Amino acid sequence: MPSDNNQIVIGVDLDGVCVDFYSRMREIAAKWFEKDLDSLPTEVSYGLEEWGIQDNEEYQSLHRFAVTQRNFFATVPMIPGARSVLRALSNEGYRIRIITHRLYIYFFHETSVRQTIAWLDDHGISYWDLCFMKEKDQVGADIYVEDAPVNIDRLRERGHYAICFANSTNRHITQPRAENWDEVYALIKQRFPTSDGK
Ligand SMILES: [Mg+2]
Repeated sequence: MPSDNNQIVIGVDLDGVCVDFYSRMREIAAKWFEKDLDSLPTEVSYGLEEWGIQDNEEYQSLHRFAVTQRNFFATVPMIPGARSVLRALSNEGYRIRIITHRLYIYFFHETSVRQTIAWLDDHGISYWDLCFMKEKDQVGADIYVEDAPVNIDRLRERGHYAICFANSTNRHITQPRAENWDEVYALIKQRFPTSDGK
């Protein structure tokens, strides 16, 4: 079921998939709370309660500080393999569609989008489409690569093939899972060995 002109579309999440969100946010959270970095565990769940985040309002404050004061989306490290594997897939005819839900706090969308685009270019990520969307299944794709449990559950419930990119927030999510980008590549080739368009 190719989505566009016989081309297989891969819907790729950013945070926790291409972007090492939790390692950089941990550094910023340590400053935010004035705690030693080592005191913040690396095994975290989705709401970051392990770092002392009490509720969504506090999460949003940290997030706002990170983006507006620490240039978060432009400075966060890349997860190894994202660049080379996405380039390989793109060269093989797959269409890379970035789908991210980064615009969930009002009034600094321009900053978030600008930092995101700068990061994608700076890290040489091959992509054609960039979608800022909460409801990811409303953006057409043949395969999704995603790490957030709620998104993976929703995509799979609606019949989509969603690869879970493994991290500490999604240990309970079942196959298909990928521990790294090489495994993402293998799963995509298994599902859709070729992409006809180009
Ligand atoms: Mg994510």
